Amino acid sequence: MARSPSSPRARLAPSPTGVLHLGNARSFVLAWLAARSEGAWLQLRIEDLDGPRVRAGATESILEDFAWLGLDWDSGPLTQADRVDEFQTVLDQLHQQGQAYPCICSRRDIEQAASAPHAGEEGLIYPGTCRGRFATLAQAQAASTDGRVAWRFAVPPGQTVSWIDEVAGPQSYLPSSQLGDFVIWKKDAEPAYQLAVVVDDIAAGINQVLRGDDLLPSTARQLLLYEALGHAPPRWLHVPLVVGTDGRRLAKRHGDTSLRHLRACGVSASQVLCWIARVSGIGVEEQPQSARALLPGFDLAALPRQAVVWHGPQDLDS
Ligand code: GLU
Repeated sequence: MARSPSSPRARLAPSPTGVLHLGNARSFVLAWLAARSEGAWLQLRIEDLDGPRVRAGATESILEDFAWLGLDWDSGPLTQADRVDEFQTVLDQLHQQGQAYPCICSRRDIEQAASAPHAGEEGLIYPGTCRGRFATLAQAQAASTDGRVAWRFAVPPGQTVSWIDEVAGPQSYLPSSQLGDFVIWKKDAEPAYQLAVVVDDIAAGINQVLRGDDLLPSTARQLLLYEALGHAPPRWLHVPLVVGTDGRRLAKRHGDTSLRHLRACGVSASQVLCWIARVSGIGVEEQPQSARALLPGFDLAALPRQAVVWHGPQDLDS
């Protein structure tokens, strides 16, 4: 579809923490198809703020895989590590608004907190120990054993966050009890994912986000940030993940499904694209040589709403 000034704005936002495998490759191809099928402007953003998890060479490898699949974009790659000043400005704003506070708790402190911390979907929920505890950052630094502090977003008590996800359907969270005050700036002086993603999406005017449904709880947090920053959120499309026959998210235990490995074994981009098409309700007539060949058959309504099961390399043959 041709682009017009009112066309959506979307992004591909890989984290260079490892190589692309069939699971995240499928999500990126779907994000690309959803964007291109609506004539969207597309940005490539490298989410390289994940400190020790960032792997040397991962960005290059992801770009090579994107090219292999025929994914393109209109702007970027933008790297988040270059934008720390912008994230700092927004952190300061949230602090001034009384919506962010310094936190000196270690993981151990949280585990041992008197008010028996409870586990949420994604691990421990922060019990709020440092909320309202320090009048200034200097006070928090002085109280911290190593002088380091993190910043947390003060989740409004009792506020429900609901939205209609265009793939996952209606969603509702009570962040104060299900998620807790979340980190927006890490102790190692790096902006945290939740803050960086919202600041970057707002800066680029992103209004369509397609990504894996493991990020649904993050979306509830990000919606609170959009509200705090006074911006309208994007349309959300969270797609089910690829899982192994054990029902668990695709990982090393299911064999090496990295595109790099498959390519080295002689698997063609066409085979991978055929598999993506088959498990995503996309009809294709010929052997697709690039993601563009999947565009005519792409229909969001036909996208399966349940996890895709990967049985093994034989899935690429059928
Ligand atoms: N960087 C994340 C990933 O590679 C995606 C984050 C997002 O789309 O907001 O899983």
